[in-house]
Amino acid sequence: RKSLKIGMIPADGIGREVLPGAKAAIQALGSSIPTTEFIDLQAGFECFQKTGTALPDETVEVLKNECDCALFGAVSSPSRKVFGYSSPIVALRKKMDLYANIRPVSSVAPIPNEQPTIDLVVVRENTECLYIKEETQTVGERGIETRATRLITEYASRRIGEMAFKIALTRPRKHVTIIHKSNVLSVTDGLFRETVRGVPTLPGMNGKYDGVTVAEQLVDSAVYRLFREPHIYDVMVAPNLYGDIISDAAAALVGSLGLVPSVNAGDSFVMGEPVHGSAPDIAGKDIANPLAAIRSAALMLRQFGYGNGAARIESAVDDVIREGRYLTPDLGGKSSTSEVVSQVVKRI
Ligand code: NAD
Ligand code: MN
Repeated sequence: RKSLKIGMIPADGIGREVLPGAKAAIQALGSSIPTTEFIDLQAGFECFQKTGTALPDETVEVLKNECDCALFGAVSSPSRKVFGYSSPIVALRKKMDLYANIRPVSSVAPIPNEQPTIDLVVVRENTECLYIKEETQTVGERGIETRATRLITEYASRRIGEMAFKIALTRPRKHVTIIHKSNVLSVTDGLFRETVRGVPTLPGMNGKYDGVTVAEQLVDSAVYRLFREPHIYDVMVAPNLYGDIISDAAAALVGSLGLVPSVNAGDSFVMGEPVHGSAPDIAGKDIANPLAAIRSAALMLRQFGYGNGAARIESAVDDVIREGRYLTPDLGGKSSTSEVVSQVVKRI
């Protein structure tokens, strides 16, 4: 590969403030990765307000036809129904078939009174569950009635299951926990649970996952145990909604949502994205933590085989956190977004 074209979609709020940090970190790698070209692309709620669409066709076309990979900032999706608006990140994951959202959560800095180190990865199914957004509203005898469809397929459960087992193989503990609620939702979550469990015995696997141990946990008690004994988890694989929720919960355990990165991965495309949202409460103040976005850039590069470049970015981030001198307010520091970025860049 001679060059790497990266689509940059900052979108809204602090997405615009943290994505330049990710770009600066990649640029700091210099010639140790191929020449990178960054292509700025539109999406988000502001884009919707300006153009009438939250995800212009052009953005999807450029991603599909010109970009090798992408970085997404964060989008502001209103909680009320806005006619014609639909979340561009949910749509992008579907349109690019980015079926896995891989979210590593680990603590580097010694947190006071912290129990054993947290080092887990949430593998979230990214294309179905309640996020297919099939909601209806009718008026019945007792007033308004709403319904939502929750789609769980064998196909999607199997490929997210395979992804979880593959990731487990690369980790020291090689342990997968299946998160579900099949005591209540025996059909949908039952299918998810059984399909993921069955992955190692699928035809053609030939004992590939023999070293991987499997456990399962109901989602509510999984959150409880996550807070009580987070170190028991290694790879947590979950349907879309549970995966979304447990990864935010896990982020609290390492100190901030502003630390937790992710990649949206498909078989032919990868898009890095911090786990956090557009954080309207702190947007525009230059205090958003850029480390989640920077780590997302590293994850994206690793997925492409540039493990060395990724490791250089990651250890620069870890050093900044351990030193504790240049931290944003979410981690108890006084530094600005740009100050943290320049400290990371300096260490790369
Ligand atoms: P949020 O993640 O934006 O913020 C939650 C809390 O964490 C806030 O107090 C915020 O200040 C803090 N926080 C988040 N990221 C931070 C960072 N990098 N540095 C410092 N503090 C940080 O979640 P929310 O407030 O529930 O949602 C706000 C908006 O973001 C909503 O419109 C929601 O739809 C959207 N959202 C988008 C995505 C995405 O783009 N993938 C994900 C989640 C939420
Ligand atoms: Mn979320």
